[in-house]
Amino acid sequence: MEDNVLDSAPLYEKRIPIIPRTVHGKFRNFKTSVLVFALSVFFLLPWMPWQRESGIPQAVAFDVMGRRFFVFDLVVYPQNVFWLALLLFIAATFLFFATALIGRAFCGYFCFQTVWTDLFMFVEKWVQGERPARMKLMKQPWNGEKILKIGATHAVWLLLAFWTGVTFILYFGYAPDLLHRFFIGQAASAAYYTVFALTFSTYLAAGFMREQICAYICPYGRFQSVMYEPETLAVAYDYHRGEGEKGRVTMKGDLKSLESRHEQGHGDCIDCGICVQVCPAGIDIRDGLQYRCISCGLCIDGCNEVMSSVGFPRGLIRYDSEYNIESGSPKPPHLSWKRLKVLGYLIAIIGMSALLVVSVLHQTDMEDSVEQIRQPLYVVMSNGEIRNRYEIRLDNDSQGDAVYQISTPDLPAGALDLGVMQTVRVHSGQTVLVDVGVLLWPDQIMKHRKFNFVIKSLTNPKDVEVIPSNFSSELSAS
Ligand code: SF4
Ligand code: SF4
Repeated sequence: MEDNVLDSAPLYEKRIPIIPRTVHGKFRNFKTSVLVFALSVFFLLPWMPWQRESGIPQAVAFDVMGRRFFVFDLVVYPQNVFWLALLLFIAATFLFFATALIGRAFCGYFCFQTVWTDLFMFVEKWVQGERPARMKLMKQPWNGEKILKIGATHAVWLLLAFWTGVTFILYFGYAPDLLHRFFIGQAASAAYYTVFALTFSTYLAAGFMREQICAYICPYGRFQSVMYEPETLAVAYDYHRGEGEKGRVTMKGDLKSLESRHEQGHGDCIDCGICVQVCPAGIDIRDGLQYRCISCGLCIDGCNEVMSSVGFPRGLIRYDSEYNIESGSPKPPHLSWKRLKVLGYLIAIIGMSALLVVSVLHQTDMEDSVEQIRQPLYVVMSNGEIRNRYEIRLDNDSQGDAVYQISTPDLPAGALDLGVMQTVRVHSGQTVLVDVGVLLWPDQIMKHRKFNFVIKSLTNPKDVEVIPSNFSSELSAS
């Protein structure tokens, strides 16, 4: 019987549309400021020009062909993958740090999903009107007005989603040129696939799935609970104050003043439902901390508006810790950072950030390595000399072409065999592999088993690298 119930239970709960009410307050203002800032940066940054010796004259650009990434004056090459690893580590640790301190605040204000969903909701409100008008529109039968308003909403959403996709690809080339080629059909096919995929996914995620992405798809929402501690500040309903001994009750009869409500054992919550109506996740924070809550603080603004309008103290819903609320006589909420976990995250962030800054500041324009060719390890020539071969890798990380000179000052004259190339030219951002030989007579080997390759940039004479190497033979092995 139980099996049958489970078999017939749907695997996926149908989404109930959420039509949030507009709210005013400091959290709404902060959220709007972040939205305007984040979208301005994303949409405008590809259009910021930047002069550099070679490469795309754009402040931030991925040069796919040149295998480099420009961020203002910094050029990042694939060999700098270490920086990416550090950045990811810092970002992840910062997320843990912020969650331990102030809960899921990243989700509520900074996440792409939140920002784009908020943008789409603004469009919805702009075209269809406030919550009551949108609810009426949803319930009314399809007529001219409904077709026009719903059609216009989806048209603007699609346009925004399309421009999101187009803006994304503009980071992979020179924006004015790439945009022109895109619209005359001469961009790379990957550009069209990317724009199509991003248009579709943005339209779907911000227009339809919205809070379901946070509840079902994003893994962070699921594991956030392990990062919460009783001292973590999170959006919370002051249960004791709101419910009293006999529970919440509307403002009716002689329950309109705080004194009479408290005398009769009722709390301060007037059960107006505003906190639920403004919630973009469609939840009731009065039921306690929930995994669907993205900590956006809009219910705080909503409840504060209500409290002010009825003359009750604000802060019935607020950023507070479970520890403080459960104490029975809560003190003003404060950021509790003196905890082992928080300090551990902080130390890791500072340490890794310092390492990243030092690594970036000490980046040289050239990176080289020498590898001895081991098959065969050495060759005895017909005249008795012994030859080793080495593969030298020259990476030119500067913004212009460079000419390099390879030498072995420790070895006897004529020991280094560079072939026909006495110097090597490497284009900006390119890597060249040079095959060189070292020839020694048997009586020289013991003295020169260890020697240095010196690689010098003739273009930037300050770039000199000394790379220790070994000479191998039967003699040196003994
Ligand atoms: S309950 Fe809703 S409105 Fe309140 S913080 Fe959570 S997601 Fe935002
Ligand atoms: S907005 Fe405040 S007063 Fe109204 S139901 Fe929510 S918690 Fe109660």
